[in-house]
Amino acid sequence: MKINEGESGAAGHAERGPIDASRIPRFAGPPTFALLPRRDEVTHCDVAVVGVPFDSGTSYRPGARFGPAAVRQGSRLLRPWHPGLQVAPFGVQQVADAGDIACNPFDIKEAIDQIEAGATALLTSAGHLLAIGGDHTIAYPLLCATRQRFGPLALVHFDAHLDTWQTYFGAPLTHGTPFRRAAEDGLFLNGHSMHIGIRGPLYAPSDLTEDAELGFQIISAMDVGRTGIDGVAAAIRAQVGDRPVYLSIDIDVLDPAHAPGTGTPEAGGLTSRELLGILRGLAGTRLVGADVVEVSPAYDHAEMTAVAAAHICYELLALMALRG
Ligand code: MN
Ligand code: MN
Repeated sequence: MKINEGESGAAGHAERGPIDASRIPRFAGPPTFALLPRRDEVTHCDVAVVGVPFDSGTSYRPGARFGPAAVRQGSRLLRPWHPGLQVAPFGVQQVADAGDIACNPFDIKEAIDQIEAGATALLTSAGHLLAIGGDHTIAYPLLCATRQRFGPLALVHFDAHLDTWQTYFGAPLTHGTPFRRAAEDGLFLNGHSMHIGIRGPLYAPSDLTEDAELGFQIISAMDVGRTGIDGVAAAIRAQVGDRPVYLSIDIDVLDPAHAPGTGTPEAGGLTSRELLGILRGLAGTRLVGADVVEVSPAYDHAEMTAVAAAHICYELLALMALRG
């Protein structure tokens, strides 16, 4: 395999960048994220991209276990230079694909332990993780591993749903409960976390009051429309300040018109341009870890959800390259 050494002309801390697309077309080459090297092909790793193919915590349409493979496929067209942020995300830092964390599809508790152990092991030799789900259950063990490494976190959570419910059918660990479990475990800094893009019907008004009691601020999808990209980004920056930030992005924060391939679709969501713009507005914040979850490719059309998720991952890698 022909590898383009030092792909970027920028600061260039990367040992190896993606394959050279002028020599190997992007539809060929390795099945890694953005045609990057595998984790075992580089000695140093600033950011490990890792798949977490787990969807046994799903409450409605299943299939997010196939998300990591779909997002990798959707990432083949990503290019080395980010003009909006003036950075080479694969050039100024070493990004590598660490493969998937294998976890038990029949036992949620065991899977969570395996995901936390897998993430913790990766963080012993990689600076940061960008995880690709999988359903939103995986955010809980990823937050546990990230908290262990970086201390209490400011969570910035993009989603149509709060994901702070108490239990579902009596089960404490599902894709609708990760942030309540994480808050109970004291993983978050008090008063610096928020949800963005919340919309759709709830079970009761207490869903919102209980969420507020856990310390979350909400910017709803309607608020995003009224406030605009720059206003939302400013509000997030004000909420997190210079604290360590974990970004968790449920692809269903996007409108089903932009991301139909997901398990729990809700009308009235963000456009992909709004989401990419808000993320871009977070340049300079201290992003220590992130996940992009709930891509369920069986419901996708023409890879539109997988491509949107791949571009979100690219923005996150650019933010990590510019970390404050
Ligand atoms: Mn979610
Ligand atoms: Mn959701």
